[in-house]
Amino acid sequence: MSKKVVAYFYNPDVGNFHYGPGHPMKPHRLSVIHSLVLNYGLYKKMQIYRPYRASAHDMCRFHSDEYIEFLQRVTPQNLQGFTKYLSHFNVGDDCPVFEGLFDFCSMYTGASLEGAMKLNNGCCDIAINWSGGLHHAKKFEASGFCYVNDIVIGILELLKYHARVLYIDIDVHHGDGVQEAFYLTDRVMTVSFHKYGNYFFPGTGDMYEVGAESGRYYSVNVPLKEGIDDNSYLSVFKPVISSVMEFYRPTAIVLQCGADSLANDRLGCFSLSTKGHGECVKFVRDLGVPLLTVGGGGYTLRNVARCWTYETSLLVDENISNELPYTEYLEYFAPDFTLHPDVVTRQENANSKQYLEAITKQVYDNLKMCQHSPSVQMQDIPDDAFPSLLDGSHEPEPDPDTRLPTAEEDRRIEPDNEFYDGEKDQDKSEPGDS
Ligand SMILES: [Zn+2]
Repeated sequence: MSKKVVAYFYNPDVGNFHYGPGHPMKPHRLSVIHSLVLNYGLYKKMQIYRPYRASAHDMCRFHSDEYIEFLQRVTPQNLQGFTKYLSHFNVGDDCPVFEGLFDFCSMYTGASLEGAMKLNNGCCDIAINWSGGLHHAKKFEASGFCYVNDIVIGILELLKYHARVLYIDIDVHHGDGVQEAFYLTDRVMTVSFHKYGNYFFPGTGDMYEVGAESGRYYSVNVPLKEGIDDNSYLSVFKPVISSVMEFYRPTAIVLQCGADSLANDRLGCFSLSTKGHGECVKFVRDLGVPLLTVGGGGYTLRNVARCWTYETSLLVDENISNELPYTEYLEYFAPDFTLHPDVVTRQENANSKQYLEAITKQVYDNLKMCQHSPSVQMQDIPDDAFPSLLDGSHEPEPDPDTRLPTAEEDRRIEPDNEFYDGEKDQDKSEPGDS
């Protein structure tokens, strides 16, 4: 397979935010990953961008104006004046108000949005934003450490150019915010693999949640039990994604790579190794469809850093040594100082072969219900979120990308293949409004 053009988005300030003492979500992990990516020399294999910062207006393409205005105005200092809004927007313990909250949202969301734009314009084959992937955020409220749903905003941008976008989520938690946003449309298929049962957060993601109205059968859920290991996970992941490709034929994919599905995560309960997790990323890369990869959960910092560094190497198709390079964070990786430490877990795999085969079959039967991939006519492509970025004023950081000027030519693309004129034609759907 030929090498892909990979665009990597990183804001050097994004790792400096703190959710507060004791909070499991640590943006610092992003600095550690970036340092490993640099010290492994992976930066030479991709275009590195300091991403655009999303405006309140960009965020309101999915979220309500009043919620975004609240995020813009609230600070730890003026919190007292907002007490009646905190529960209304679900802000407090899990989703605290911390210093620079809106700036943080603007950085991780802008990176996903710009990744989607670069894919739309053919500037890259793969876009990477490890700071994004905040899949629980809802239209009107924060949820599960997520405030602004950068994934939904990135997908809405992809839908300007793509008839069908596939969303795949391998975080240990259900990708509820993304599913909910596109529950009523067939223009986005959401596929989430997650722990389900025993009140595990967020509590949704049963396999019988399949979508509704035009979106019926376009939400796919693969509920798993605790302790799932690499072989079991891949025995479901690969056939499910292959069937999804066969029946849905997406023209763009967004992959949420939540690393809380790794063994020994502080909040998760799966037993994946970095190699097993990475195998999913490699499988999706090899589908050869334009791909936006984002981060997500991941609460044992050293393992998240290993995982997304390894996955960066897979996405640029470079072998990297199991011995970690020297970085200022090397001590975090004691005692082995390796990229792929052995997985030691006492967690029993509660997923029997029969159970996994049964859910794979159920998913397949549901997918057969949507054989006719929907299509839309897209003669008039809406304006890009920020066209000025495409006029050459926003070059990649190390060396300018000569392909940017062709972006304009690509503006009048048509969806790849068929035009569909049936009653299910979703020309006028507004997926963000569902
Ligand atoms: Zn998670």
